[in-house]
Amino acid sequence: MASSRIAMLALSSGITPFHQHSVADRERLLLSWKTSRIPLFRKLYDSLAKVGNSVYLRASEVAPKAMLLNRTPTEPAKDLWDFKFSSLDEVAVASFDAIIVGSGSGGGVVAKELSEAGLKVLVIEKGQHISPHGPALNEAQALEKMYNQAAYATNDYGDVAVISGQVFGGGSAVNWAACLQVSLLSVS
Ligand SMILES: Cc1cc2nc3c(=O)[nH]c(=O)nc-3n(C[C@H](O)[C@H](O)[C@H](O)COP(=O)(O)OP(=O)(O)OC[C@H]3O[C@@H](n4cnc5c(N)ncnc54)[C@H](O)[C@@H]3O)c2cc1C
Repeated sequence: MASSRIAMLALSSGITPFHQHSVADRERLLLSWKTSRIPLFRKLYDSLAKVGNSVYLRASEVAPKAMLLNRTPTEPAKDLWDFKFSSLDEVAVASFDAIIVGSGSGGGVVAKELSEAGLKVLVIEKGQHISPHGPALNEAQALEKMYNQAAYATNDYGDVAVISGQVFGGGSAVNWAACLQVSLLSVS
């Protein structure tokens, strides 16, 4: 859009297409939107700044070093429990004392407490189990496989987005996996 002269006239006072400005002029123009009296320009600046930050953090080799973050875990993954998975048509639902829908922090803890109290518990989960020993997922694959509607779930009007885990372990599995290991240096 900013490469057209008419669009540039609307976005700034000149008609030179955006890409033909010097880097300093482009920066000045974008920064002028940040404090513009026109709300649309401020919103445009916010959106572009978010995209810019996001691209920079993903692409930069310097940023993780500056933040003292390791991009990948250094410890091998450990499975703590030998979970047994079945499809719903394989289980006799009526034989359970309690059926819990969702294996997140809520459902998982309730399942543990009830089973330790002696009840026969069934946990139903619509997401899949992503084994820590399976192949590592890249960001796009993780969004698709571990989040509800690939992290793009919105309300009917499309103005509220809800990010939630849809995977065995629920939101906690997502958050744990999303946490970058903080180096000991930055902790101290
Ligand atoms: C990106 C992100 C970052 C977060 N960061 C933090 C943090 O730093 N600290 C913190 O304390 N909290 C954080 N949270 C919040 C925390 O993860 C949630 O509060 C917590 O996971 C909620 O637990 P829950 O059991 O209620 O639901 P969830 O963990 O969302 O579990 C619900 C499960 O139910 C399943 N399910 C839903 N409907 C059905 C159905 N009809 N049939 C079968 N299965 C179904 C879903 O697939 C999901 O696995 C974060 C959440 C997200 C998304």
